[in-house]
Amino acid sequence: MNRRRRIYEGKAKILYEGPEPGTLVQHFKDDATAFNNQKHDVIDGKGVLNNRISEFIFSQLNTMGIPTHFIRRLNMREQLIRQVEIVPIEVVVRNIAAGSLCKRLGAEEGTRLNRSIVEFYYKNDELGDPLVSEEHITSFGWASPQELDDMMTMAIRINDFLTGLFLGVGITLVDFKIEFGRQIEGDMMRIILADEISPDSCRLWDTNTSEKLDKDRFRQNLGGMVEAYQEVARRLGIFIDNERPGHSGPVLVK
Ligand code: UDP
Repeated sequence: MNRRRRIYEGKAKILYEGPEPGTLVQHFKDDATAFNNQKHDVIDGKGVLNNRISEFIFSQLNTMGIPTHFIRRLNMREQLIRQVEIVPIEVVVRNIAAGSLCKRLGAEEGTRLNRSIVEFYYKNDELGDPLVSEEHITSFGWASPQELDDMMTMAIRINDFLTGLFLGVGITLVDFKIEFGRQIEGDMMRIILADEISPDSCRLWDTNTSEKLDKDRFRQNLGGMVEAYQEVARRLGIFIDNERPGHSGPVLVK
């Protein structure tokens, strides 16, 4: 039974009121959606995996000085986060051509880009999240020039960090999407990383075999989605125990 106040329900996550002011609980669902909600399925265990993978990545980013909304994991599917006002922009960083870039520009999937590309999409389901330029963002006031600058700088640092992290475990980071939020503390406001970083929001290819270890398994009906996400978690050294509510740690056998 869940008596907590639900603040927001998205395609793959629910946000509940947190235990203290300025906090929220982020709950990872098993739902998978693609093509602006036209394809939907429930993939058993996906939420648990994304909770753990995103926790792992956000914790590492926190320690390297990238401010994030992550505070701590609460249980298998939930984490405590800082409440932010989401900037309505999806920031995509690309190292290798795939997905919408190939469709839009006719590039061949797998083409290594001469330099990483940062793109912005306006978060709006009705419009299908259109690609926008920096001028659109500042002109419409979706983010200020300073905020945009902060988001770009962080996006590039996150790309450098994630590229190295995954390379070390035999995974190529093709591209990823991140979102930012405004954290308001007294009369201070700063931009911090929000949402999640998981195989739902990244393209991850096995470096040796080019096997897809991300949500493209769902988009392209390749099957084996949970197995692929488990493989990403395993390589990152994340071991998922069989936690149950109310069960904490080893039990003494008499
Ligand atoms: N992405 C995402 N959410 C979105 C759109 C894209 O997480 O709403 C991620 C996607 O998984 C990929 C990257 O952003 O890692 C670039 O996606 P792309 O623009 O190629 O769009 P797609 O092919 O996913 O429609």
